[in-house]
Amino acid sequence: MAETDDAPAPTTAFPQASTVTDFAANLAAVQATIDATALRAGRNPGDIRLLAVSKTVPEERLRLAVQAGCHELGENKVQEAKRKVEAMADLDISWAIIGHLQTNKVKDMVPFAAEFHALDRLKLAETLDRRLQASGRSLDVYVQVNTSGEDSKFGLPPAAALPFLRELRAYPSLTVQGLMTLAMFTTDTERVRGCFRLLRDLRDRARDEDPDLVGPGGLSMGMSGDYPVAIEEGATVVRVGQAIFGARPLPDSYYWPSAAH
Ligand SMILES: *Cc1c(COP(=O)(O)O)cnc(C)c1O
Repeated sequence: MAETDDAPAPTTAFPQASTVTDFAANLAAVQATIDATALRAGRNPGDIRLLAVSKTVPEERLRLAVQAGCHELGENKVQEAKRKVEAMADLDISWAIIGHLQTNKVKDMVPFAAEFHALDRLKLAETLDRRLQASGRSLDVYVQVNTSGEDSKFGLPPAAALPFLRELRAYPSLTVQGLMTLAMFTTDTERVRGCFRLLRDLRDRARDEDPDLVGPGGLSMGMSGDYPVAIEEGATVVRVGQAIFGARPLPDSYYWPSAAH
């Protein structure tokens, strides 16, 4: 991510998990936080799904995580995901693509992805729908909204989200599951919360307009640094990487090239 005026959130030291026992402990700790936060917020913990984000984690360590009970993995780059899918075809894993997708990568993603969390433009919807139809399948999708207003982030401007959902009706193989966002990277929890609230408000407005417009109305939001806040604000899927696998060696700007480019 490009530098913003906000101080970046300090990277909490997430220790590397390197044994099945480490992974089991990390998964249990994250799940316990999900459960406790949900209950405190008056929500049912069973309404929140943990998607483990495995980008940059090599196959050997991923196999340990799967042994520890991780069966849904999120990757943000199609090429990396494709390599892992092929290398781990012997395992029972459901794969999600959660990052920005170039139209020319659609053909590589469609054969293996169970869900896609970063739908943000009609051209991509159209290309996906055509390729899915040709493959005789549908795909669960979340529409990505840029709730932080930072131009370094992908996603539709909030005002464009509802019109976009209306247009998606034209693409029958895209099964809308809800909305997705990345909150602002800042230690200011109230600003982070504001991003999540905005996504929830958009979901609620879409439902008010038409109960079917946003599918089941899921909210894919919250990462290692902010998932408890996201749960308080209604997250139904949290995308957690470092708190399960350990800190990544490279800064996030490496994985999220600026949307402005
Ligand atoms: C990497 C990533 C995450 C997870 O971030 P962590 O800090 O590892 O929890 C969530 N969502 C997206 C889109 C990502 O690229």
